[in-house]
Amino acid sequence: MKTEVLVNGGGVGGLALAVKLASQGVHTTVVEQLKAESPSYKGELLQPKTLAILDDLGVLQEVLPSGHALDQLQFIELERQVNTSPKTIGQSNMDYSLLQSPYNYALMIPHEKLKSILLHKANEYKSYFTYIQPARFRGFEGDKAIVRHSREDRDYHIHASFYVGAEGRTSPTRQAMGLSVKNRTYNHHFLTVTFSRPEDFIDGKIVTTNHRFLGLFPLPNDQIRTVFLIKAGAYKEMKKEGIELFHNSYAELCPELQDHVLELEDWKRIQLMIPNMYHVSKYVSGNMALIGDAAHAVHPMAGEGMNLAIQDADVLGELLGWMKRNHKFDNDCLQWYEQVRRPRAQFLLNLSHLSALAYSFPYRFFRRIRMKSIERIEQDSKLHVKQMLNISGLGRWDENAIDRFVQIGLMPKRSSGRAKDKQMEYFFQRSEDYPWEREE
Ligand SMILES: Cc1cc2nc3c(=O)[nH]c(=O)nc-3n(C[C@H](O)[C@H](O)[C@H](O)COP(=O)(O)OP(=O)(O)OC[C@H]3O[C@@H](n4cnc5c(N)ncnc54)[C@H](O)[C@@H]3O)c2cc1C
Repeated sequence: MKTEVLVNGGGVGGLALAVKLASQGVHTTVVEQLKAESPSYKGELLQPKTLAILDDLGVLQEVLPSGHALDQLQFIELERQVNTSPKTIGQSNMDYSLLQSPYNYALMIPHEKLKSILLHKANEYKSYFTYIQPARFRGFEGDKAIVRHSREDRDYHIHASFYVGAEGRTSPTRQAMGLSVKNRTYNHHFLTVTFSRPEDFIDGKIVTTNHRFLGLFPLPNDQIRTVFLIKAGAYKEMKKEGIELFHNSYAELCPELQDHVLELEDWKRIQLMIPNMYHVSKYVSGNMALIGDAAHAVHPMAGEGMNLAIQDADVLGELLGWMKRNHKFDNDCLQWYEQVRRPRAQFLLNLSHLSALAYSFPYRFFRRIRMKSIERIEQDSKLHVKQMLNISGLGRWDENAIDRFVQIGLMPKRSSGRAKDKQMEYFFQRSEDYPWEREE
């Protein structure tokens, strides 16, 4: 079998790439090993840049009604008290609406729903899209990929001009490229689960105490995805103590959910999530390229995982489309992809890592710094705009030493509204997203 681009893995990254390629008339084949929807939780928060890309792919109108828009994230710091409910000692908001863009919000959408929308869209480009499932990419024999179709019980030998590894964390394409990853782990894990929420619980919230962290992200249909931080390795012991421990922790941190969390009668729906971080040393080798978790894993604190995958897909897809239109189907051109995406991914990996550290140490000193820093981000217009722009993926405005001093309270906060207008200078322009077009 022949195709122009073989994409190994039909996750969000692989499917976004398929839509992008097929819509430009590039013959694309996606192989996906799973038989059906995955029952496990994955990323669900779409950042503004990803919303812009989905709009460009022609799916935003379908994505929006399937998601829940978030204009802001509330950060609430509680102090636990003896024999009474905790007291709020800090509250700040991070506001997406500061962004000077039509995509000035984030969106929570069930992961599998997004995948089904992308797959449906790819199928609209019938002449250019082939989807093989359940089929597992196993490696290369000569210049062909070997794909095992489990239902048909046979191997496909697929020849492609380009091969893309989009298989997530355990990527056989990455192995075929001779790359390994150095995995960084953390001193904490997360328990994550979705259950029902009150209708009026519509904002995202991060609730913390000296020892605890609970992330609450409303989904559509009055559901809420929750992420609860625990010590690495503590899950087994918690399970022995019974589900009441989980109920009580949620009730203490978020009384609005105390009746809803009772829906969880045991630990079955609760999934352990082990955060890690890695970044491959190169994205491209010969006619192979990596996207998404195959190339990098990011701590989930800043909600960037699936955004990085879709943003990789956008740049690689645009490049391959351009290469086809310009009769430049040669491997060297793939370097453009790495040149654009690698520094951007590294930047967000670092940003997520720093956010993770802020919640990693249960000491009062760390808490004071964290509270000051979050409060200052809200109060200092420049810090606020920079933070929102950087996590949005729409642009990059680096923080400098003055910002850091302001953030930890060593310099006064700045109140001028200039940052809101100045942000436009730091938005990524088309010529930075797709720099090869300058060659035309
Ligand atoms: C358990 C878990 C929870 C997560 N939670 C969060 C979160 O809360 N917030 C956040 O931002 N991010 C989260 N992430 C990360 C986020 O979901 C990923 O960054 C994102 O899904 C990456 O997309 P991807 O397309 O690169 O890879 P994936 O979504 O992993 O997709 C890879 C696809 O490839 C398929 N595949 C694998 N091997 C093969 C093969 N050999 N042949 C064919 N197909 C193959 C897989 O079945 C899968 O469908 C989580 C990830 C995991 C694993």
